[in-house]
Amino acid sequence: IEYDMADIVMLSAIFAATIAYFTKGTLWGKQKDVFAEIVHANGNARAAKTRDPVKKMAETDRNAIFFYGSQTGTAEDYASRLAKEGHARFGLKTLVADIEDYDFEVLDTFPSDHLAVFVLATYGEGEPTDNAVEFYEFLSGDEPQFSEGTPAEEQPLQNLKYVTFGLGNNTYEHYNAMVRKVDGFLTKLGATRFGSAGEGDDGAGTMEEDFLAWKEEMWQVVCKEMGLEEREAVYEPIFQISEDETLTPESGNVYLGEPNSRHLQGANTGPFNSHNPYIAPISKSYELFSVKDRNCLHMEIDISGSGLSYTTGDHIAIWPTNSGKETDRLLNVLGLIDKRHTVFHVSALDSTSKVPFPSPTTYDAVIRYHVEINGLVSRQFIASLAPFAPTDSAKAELTRLGGDKDAFSEEISSRYLNIAQVLERLAPGQTWSGIPFSIIIEGLTHIQPRYYSISSSSQVQKNSVAITAVVESIRLPGSKHVLKGVTTNYLLALKQKQHGDPNPDPHGLTYDICGPRNKYDGIHVPVHIRHSNFKLPSNPEKPIIMIGPGSGVAPFRGFVQERAAQAAAGQKVGRTLLFFGCRNSEEDFLYKDEWPEFAEKLGDSFKLITAFSREGPKKVYVQHRLQENADEVDELLKAGAYIYVCGDAAHMARDVNATFSRIISEKRGLTEAQGEESVKRMRSSNKYQEDVW
Ligand code: FAD
Repeated sequence: IEYDMADIVMLSAIFAATIAYFTKGTLWGKQKDVFAEIVHANGNARAAKTRDPVKKMAETDRNAIFFYGSQTGTAEDYASRLAKEGHARFGLKTLVADIEDYDFEVLDTFPSDHLAVFVLATYGEGEPTDNAVEFYEFLSGDEPQFSEGTPAEEQPLQNLKYVTFGLGNNTYEHYNAMVRKVDGFLTKLGATRFGSAGEGDDGAGTMEEDFLAWKEEMWQVVCKEMGLEEREAVYEPIFQISEDETLTPESGNVYLGEPNSRHLQGANTGPFNSHNPYIAPISKSYELFSVKDRNCLHMEIDISGSGLSYTTGDHIAIWPTNSGKETDRLLNVLGLIDKRHTVFHVSALDSTSKVPFPSPTTYDAVIRYHVEINGLVSRQFIASLAPFAPTDSAKAELTRLGGDKDAFSEEISSRYLNIAQVLERLAPGQTWSGIPFSIIIEGLTHIQPRYYSISSSSQVQKNSVAITAVVESIRLPGSKHVLKGVTTNYLLALKQKQHGDPNPDPHGLTYDICGPRNKYDGIHVPVHIRHSNFKLPSNPEKPIIMIGPGSGVAPFRGFVQERAAQAAAGQKVGRTLLFFGCRNSEEDFLYKDEWPEFAEKLGDSFKLITAFSREGPKKVYVQHRLQENADEVDELLKAGAYIYVCGDAAHMARDVNATFSRIISEKRGLTEAQGEESVKRMRSSNKYQEDVW
C-alpha cells in the first residue's frame, strides 16, 4: 500500500488522538496524581486510589480524616501529629490526607459520627497553599455542587462534624485568611465545628505553642461530642524497618537520597514541579559582600532544555541537603553511625500510611536527604521520646521540658538547638539507641525546598535564573553555638566548589556535594519554579516605586534589568525609583557595580536612593528615605505608579506601608485613616504588591 504525505499526516493525527484518548488520566490530564504516586510510592506500582474521602474512610475502616493544606510541611506535620494523638489517646481510627488527593462534592454524605479535621496554612497574600487550591476553589465557588444535589442555602453539610486549625503569620495583612474563610464556608453550609477555630502565628514565633494550647481544648470537646474516652497513650510505630544484609548502597534499587523514585531510576526528566525537581547546573556564582564574616551569594541556574520557564518576579525553590556535620551528629547520638550505610526496607504497618521515600534505603540517606534535622524542635516531639531515654535523668528532663512551655522556650528554642543537640545535652556521652527509627521518619518533617525571589529578568536571560541569597549564620550573644542555615550554607559550599575548592567546607559543615550516586556532580542543584503574582505593570511606561533593602533587592535587580533592556531597545520606560538599604556602602551594597550600568541605559527615568544604616551618626532606613522623597513619591502615585515591596515581613514591610499611608495623608491633606484606606485600595487593585518573607 502506498500513502502520500497527507495520508501519513492524517493517520498520525488519528493515531495520536487514539493514544491520547486511551491514556487520559494515566499518562496525561492527571499529572498531579502521577506525581503523588511517584513521591509516595515505595518503588512498587499501586492500585488506583479513590478521590472520594467518604469511600476511602469506609474502605479503610476509619472514622476521622485529617486533611492538610501545606506549603512548607508544617501543616502536614500537625495533621499527622493530631491523627496519631487522636488514635493513641482517644481510640479514633484516623487517616491523614493530602487535601489535593480528594474531591469534596461528597462532603454532604459524610457520616454524622465521623470527624473531618482541616489543618490549613495560609500562603502569601491570604492564598491557599498549592495543594489546597482546588479545595478552596470548590468551597468558595458561587454555588458548590454536592453529590445529593441539595442547594447551598439548604445547608447540605448538616451531618459534617469538623475541626479546624490554621497556620498563618500576623505580619501579613490577610492573617490566617485561608482557615477563616474555609471555616466560614463550612458553617454556612450547615456543618458543625467542634472546639474553637485554632490559629497559629508564625509572625509572633508562637506557632507550636498556639497549636499545643488549642489542641488540648479541642480534644476535650471532641471527646464529649463523640463520646470518646481517653486512654493511656502507648507509642505504636507506623513503619517497620527491616535491615537487609544482601543489599549494599551500590545496589541499583537502593534509595540514596534522590528526590523521588523517578530520579532513583536514573531520569532527570520533566515535567518538573514541586514534586519532581530538575537537577540544574549552576552556571555562575560569586560573592556579593566584601566582608569576611558575612556572605551573600549571586548564583545563576541554567534551566535551558529542562522545559522550565519563568517570568520576572517569580520564585525558584532550591532543594537542600543536610550538612555532613549535622548528619553525623544525629546518626551518632542515635547510635547509628557505624551502620549508616546498612540497607533496610521500610514498610507501612497500616495500609493508609505512605512510606515518604523510596525503599530500600540507608540511615545515612534518610538523615542527610530526607528529614529536616536542623529546624526548630517540637515540644510535643521531645516529650514523645521520654520512654526511649538512655538514662532516668534524661527521661525526667524530657518529661519536664515537654510539659513546661517556658522552660522549653528558654532552654531549647531560644538557643536554636536542633534535635541532635538537644539529645546530646540531655544525656552527655550516651547514645539514644532505644529510639525506634520509625519515630524519626514520623516525627521529623520532610526537608523543605527554600524559595528565592528570582533576581534576573526572563526577557533578558530566559534560560538563566539568578538568585541573591544571604547566607544564614546566627550567633547568640554569650553562646558558642552558631545556627547555620541549611540551604544557604549548602549553596555556599557549591559556590566554593565552583571556584576550585575540591572539598568545600563552609564553617566545618561539609557536604556530600556531588549528591546521591554523584548525580549532582559538576555543580548541580535540584530546583523547581514557583510562579508568583509579583509582576511589573504590562505597560513599561507606568512609573514604579520599589523598596527592597538587603536581599529584598533581589526581584528588583530583575525588574531594573528588564526595564534597562526595554530602554536600550528603544521602548519608552516610565520613572523607575529604587529604594535600597544596607549597613554601609563598602561592605554589603548589593550589585553596587551593576546599578550604574542600568542607569546608563535608563537615563533620567532611573533613580537609586540608598539608605546606609551604619554610615551616619543616626541609623537611616529605606522608610526614612521614602519620607524624604515624599513629594516625588506622591507625584508618581498620582501619575498611577505601582509600588513593590520586598524583603523582611516582620518590620520593614509594615514600616514602609505606614510611611506610604503617611505620605498620602500629609501630601493630600487627608486624615491618617484616609491615608491608610488609600494604601488598602492600592493593594486590592494590585498596585501595591509585596514579596515578603
Ligand atoms: P534555615 O535552616 O531554614 O533557617 C532559617 C531560620 O529558621 C533561622 O534563621 C532561624 O530563625 C530558624 N531556625 C532554624 N533552625 C532553628 C532551630 N533549631 N531553632 C530555632 N530556630 C531555628 N532569602 C534570600 O536570601 N533571598 C531571597 O531572594 C529570598 N526570597 C524569598 C522568597 C520567598 C517567597 C520566601 C518564602 C523566602 C525567601 N527567602 C529569601 C528566604 C529563604 O527562603 C530562606 O528562608 C533563607 O535563605 C534561609 O534558609 P536556610 O535553609 O539557609 O536557613
